[in-house]
Amino acid sequence: MAVPVKQDFGRFYDQVKQFDVTGKTLLIPDMAPLASRLLASCFHAVGVNALVMETYKGLSLGKEFTSGKECFPCQVTLGDILYFLRQEKERLGESFSPTKYVYFLPEADGPCRFGMYNKMQRLVLDRLEEFRDVPITYVSTRNSYSTVDIMPPEAASVFRKLCYVTIIIADVLDRICWRVRPYELRPGITDSFIQKALEALLEQVEQKGASLELKGLFDIVEDTAATARTFIDTRQPRRPLIGIVGEIYVRTHPDSNQNIVRVLERYGAEVVVASIGEWINYITYDMARDYKRRVKLAMVNWDVASLRGALNDLIPTQIEKYYQMGRQKQVYNRALKHLDIQKDHAISMLEKRMDKDRLYSFDIGTESALSIGAALEHLHEGYSGIVNVYPFTCMPSAVCTAILKPLLNKIRMPYIDAPYDGAIQPNREIALRTFLHQAKQRLQSRNSGNRNGKAAKCHIKP
Ligand code: SF4
Repeated sequence: MAVPVKQDFGRFYDQVKQFDVTGKTLLIPDMAPLASRLLASCFHAVGVNALVMETYKGLSLGKEFTSGKECFPCQVTLGDILYFLRQEKERLGESFSPTKYVYFLPEADGPCRFGMYNKMQRLVLDRLEEFRDVPITYVSTRNSYSTVDIMPPEAASVFRKLCYVTIIIADVLDRICWRVRPYELRPGITDSFIQKALEALLEQVEQKGASLELKGLFDIVEDTAATARTFIDTRQPRRPLIGIVGEIYVRTHPDSNQNIVRVLERYGAEVVVASIGEWINYITYDMARDYKRRVKLAMVNWDVASLRGALNDLIPTQIEKYYQMGRQKQVYNRALKHLDIQKDHAISMLEKRMDKDRLYSFDIGTESALSIGAALEHLHEGYSGIVNVYPFTCMPSAVCTAILKPLLNKIRMPYIDAPYDGAIQPNREIALRTFLHQAKQRLQSRNSGNRNGKAAKCHIKP
């Protein structure tokens, strides 16, 4: 029941906070299907009972409690938590206790509204008497998604490493699926096989994750790639490769993007979506970049105390950066032994690509940096088209559109914006089909040796 509540701003601190969630049921909103489930299993491995909530069924609830000006992922995740809690209350009746749950909603600092989702959703939960006492916890980009404040410190260190590896594994599994599914000999075989691989991974993480025994996970990845390779009908010609960039939630959440990967595959594409690992690596890279700047400044000013402080921050961040690079390479290499999946971009490469072309700067930050960098990298990697997937009115994605659209149009690289807000747009499929037609033409042109074509006039060489 909705009740009028005089807003107490203290609740933004008391009831949106980091605290030890052991013993509670942690409610995780669904995003990328494989990564979300592996994240929940990482929590299980360190003794936290976590579950991924059913998604998108509560969208009408999310819209009912928002004004329409909020970002679409905020509406979807709000709908998910409200739907889950209502279902749970109905299922448990009198024994439903809101304090048994903790809603997990990460945040980011910086210019985006993502930093406000959990506060805004606090306001909504506070209006519902029966759910007021469900606390919200989060991890933040501010300290590189540290979990030391939401679980015991010894568990946090294991969780961090395990979580990173499983996110990369989820990326690789997705890439195996996208590489094989468009060419599969028997329709549906790839999806059901990937589902089985996921189940094996979940079991492995829960059994061996706490001791960071990762070999079993890597073996599953390798076996999955080796078997998936046999599903490919090698008589089929290679399709145009389409890169999806854009806002992380909508591009990885199939319900929110109306299953754009499958739609593109249906019209003849092979698709690669920007990975989640890319975002995690970017957060670490950006922090290290910041600390390096502080080191330089302290040296210029001969400020020994500041220099010591900056080095103390920089060294562990650099170690983490190299740890991530090493682990990522290790996981991808296991799959690459058997299957030519697309490798992930090095963040330093994306930055160089932008600096060289003076289009945008990592100093401005946000996801635009990654989307623009990845689109330019795709151009050099021989992709045949780029789709920018984002929530309607998303600020970094609008920046990305403003830069990429004229640039890619000029060099005749097929490009399309795909904004989503939950509405069905009858024209969208026609637009995607037209885009795919252009991408096929580009691929044909490349295959017939006309690599440069009109693009030679541009400062970016395809
Ligand atoms: S990235 Fe886009 S969708 Fe996400 S908070 Fe920022 S403006 Fe909203």
